Amino acid sequence: MNDQKKRRTMLIYIIVALIAYVLVSNLLFPQIRNAQITTVEYSTFLSDVEDGKVKEVELNTGTNTIRYTQKDDAESHIYETTLFPNDTQLVPVLREHDVEFSASIPNQSNDLWLYMLLSYGLPLLIFLGGGWLINRRLRKQMGDDNSMNFGGGFGGFGMGGLGKSNAKMVKGEETGVTFKDVAGQDEAKESLVEIVSFLKNPDKYTAIGARCPRGALLVGPPGTGKTLLARAVAGEAGVPFFQISGSEFVEMFVGRGAAKVRDLFKQASEKAPCIVFIDEIDAVGKSRDSSLNSNDEREQTLNQLLSEMDGFDNQKGIVVLAATNRPETLDQALLRPGRFDRRIPVELPDLAGREAILKIHADDVKMEPGIDLSVIAKSTPGASGADLANIINEAALRAVRNGRSRVSQEDLLESVDVVIAGEKKKSTVLSEHEKEVVSYHETGHAIVAAMQKGSAPVTKITIVPRTSGALGFTMQVDEDEHFLTTRQQAKDKIAVLCGGRAAEELIFGEMTTGASNDIERATSLARAMVTQYGMSEKFGMVALGHQRNRYLGGGAELTCSEGTAQEIDAEVQRLVEEGHQTALRTLQENRFKLHEIAHYLQRKETITGEEFMNILTRDDGFAPKMAAMKRD
Ligand code: ADP
Ligand code: MG
Ligand code: ZN
Repeated sequence: MNDQKKRRTMLIYIIVALIAYVLVSNLLFPQIRNAQITTVEYSTFLSDVEDGKVKEVELNTGTNTIRYTQKDDAESHIYETTLFPNDTQLVPVLREHDVEFSASIPNQSNDLWLYMLLSYGLPLLIFLGGGWLINRRLRKQMGDDNSMNFGGGFGGFGMGGLGKSNAKMVKGEETGVTFKDVAGQDEAKESLVEIVSFLKNPDKYTAIGARCPRGALLVGPPGTGKTLLARAVAGEAGVPFFQISGSEFVEMFVGRGAAKVRDLFKQASEKAPCIVFIDEIDAVGKSRDSSLNSNDEREQTLNQLLSEMDGFDNQKGIVVLAATNRPETLDQALLRPGRFDRRIPVELPDLAGREAILKIHADDVKMEPGIDLSVIAKSTPGASGADLANIINEAALRAVRNGRSRVSQEDLLESVDVVIAGEKKKSTVLSEHEKEVVSYHETGHAIVAAMQKGSAPVTKITIVPRTSGALGFTMQVDEDEHFLTTRQQAKDKIAVLCGGRAAEELIFGEMTTGASNDIERATSLARAMVTQYGMSEKFGMVALGHQRNRYLGGGAELTCSEGTAQEIDAEVQRLVEEGHQTALRTLQENRFKLHEIAHYLQRKETITGEEFMNILTRDDGFAPKMAAMKRD
């Protein structure tokens, strides 16, 4: 047989195999192909839900995405939008509209197996089978010449997609995000400006011989805008953006993670200058000896990542950004020069930052005139950007639910409560006695707070049960922001936390379980005072522990002897007891006001800080001595 004929048979064979591949993967299993995913705005998703258009929803907490299908969509398109972390609102809304939903954990290995089997295995089989048949025919034609065996040799062709990364290729301009969309992170932006300018014009840097950072690590608590910032860098520089999440690498076939990394960098180097963004890098980059059950797959992936980062030609302008909220777990090798040697903190926003973030998100919704966002910013210390975005969204949902076309201040205030304490829970009906106990409990907190010099003013007291399990809460808002807490303030805070239980003891001579959260918080604050802040008389300025995880909370790990640990416990106990005694004394001195306010609260269920202060300071012979009070 001549060469030309051989080549023709081969060509036909490849075409047939290709058609088989396309048929199998697109026609038979369209739903597991990623090809037809349309990205939509979160608001579009919500209005689809509200309009009853949505058929099925899948919430993926690993990738923070929501995927859903629509009812009257014959081709079953998949729509995708962002899943906000801690979106407590979403599930009730889905339930309300009878939408079927399922939560999926990042590990999709079951689906993946099926997908791999069907989309690669089947064509492979056809391919190999076809190859075998052709081989046999050829051999017959050629007599017994077995020098040719391309059926098997080309089988690999069907596997071409095996190591493909799912790094989503989004043209830089299409991330559609710029620094203008990120508020309250001015330092982080400043550190990233240089990267932007390098990406815009790599030649300018290489001409001088300057080496631009290859990688920068964005570290900070969840929801502070790390992902958003990375996207903004690509948007600002107008370069392509490749994003992949660390959690996508793990729990795959051995070797696949490494192949994915290799492929990701190969794709990136073709599109340079560009950004490669590895979200949640701690999932692959965990210190290699930190876990007892070593994970070979993760280690291989990490090694591949390291060697890619060392290997790629920096002249081209590939910048690798990564994000994590547990930097302390990262393998040291990742942090060496030439790798992620720049660390960019992305912290929780301060007061001005919170207001700016609220403003950005408020621009997306219709607001009544005269809305004061600074009030909202003030009442949300500790909230992340994602929380704030969520507050605006909650407020918009509430406005829609109440049939209004604009968001009111009231909506915003209510949604602060929802984000802090959860939705109002209508199904929990307290008996009158329980209501009375909760009223005294909350009033106890409030009075102790009002009587402490170092405590923030009370702005609201409520005894409406919340879905978080809280039966009520007392909100305190500082007039301005503090970055330092004095020892006195910490002690005052412990006293305020003890105020609830103290009121119950004083009035009912009985304790309830309602104070468990208060006790936990008081204890952990006292413990931090002793072990981290050096605020106890007993130990003074000695660090007795180090914090386990700066960005995800979690207490300190003790670094002292067992004997000392016992003494620490005693000291913690003493601090909490001191606060408890202060609370008891304060409430005892003001028990007439305690009675009056608690009963007023029980009747009204929610009272403002102003109402509270009016009763507390009304001069009826029982008002606390003004000199003792904070506001003088
Ligand atoms: P992270 O990656 O740090 O967990 P994300 O970037 O995913 O946080 O933030 C989630 C969402 O919260 C963003 O899409 C954005 O809507 C909002 N957000 C967070 N931080 C900011 C910010 N600094 N400015 C504006 N919006 C923010
Ligand atoms: Mg993120
Ligand atoms: Zn309490």
